[in-house]
Amino acid sequence: DERVLEAMFSVPRHLFTPEEYRDLAYTDGPLPIGERQTISQPYIVALMTEMLELNGEENVLEVGTGSGYQAAVLAYLAGSVHTVERHETLAQRAEQVLRRLGLKNVFVHVGDGSLGWPSAAPYHGIIVTAAAPRAPQPLLDQLADGGRMVIPVGGMSGQFLELWRRQGDLYTHETTLPVAFVPLRGEHGWTEVHWDR
Ligand code: SAM
Repeated sequence: DERVLEAMFSVPRHLFTPEEYRDLAYTDGPLPIGERQTISQPYIVALMTEMLELNGEENVLEVGTGSGYQAAVLAYLAGSVHTVERHETLAQRAEQVLRRLGLKNVFVHVGDGSLGWPSAAPYHGIIVTAAAPRAPQPLLDQLADGGRMVIPVGGMSGQFLELWRRQGDLYTHETTLPVAFVPLRGEHGWTEVHWDR
């Protein structure tokens, strides 16, 4: 999708990576961002964004703000972006960069994103950037009629990207390509014990 590529050309990825990795910011790989978390590989950011088929008007939820990079890309393609991060330090850092870029349609929240962010629901697009044991019910509930959700599902040994669609009370999903994400924690995420199995 050309619009996704344009959005990615507009977002300076080096502002979202720690100083020591700046020279690697434009390579196509994930990088550490602290708290044992990562900024995702650009190819996967592009792919997951494209799967949401955004037209510029939508209200979007991201679970797993991390560096804020994915949220910045979404900000160029949707009406509003709510992004939830469980690590306060990461959320604060992400918010600073997003403000610096003047992206006023992104709202960073600290909390357990496996529960979604009910106060701003429904969402026409939901993107989960950490691996879940299964699609969390609260996220399915917060999906708007006609909405789409992209989520990696699986454990430490591997995951597949799932694309969910809601039509009224009918939910369908397809399983796409294999991916490798850090775990989704929280009420509908992995516990330390179960992730390692
Ligand atoms: N989208 C991010 C970016 O563009 O930099 C990359 C996200 S990183 C691969 C996954 C993030 O999900 C981590 O920052 C992690 O702390 C966060 N996370 C894991 N479980 C979460 C939960 N229950 N609620 C909110 N964030 C969570």
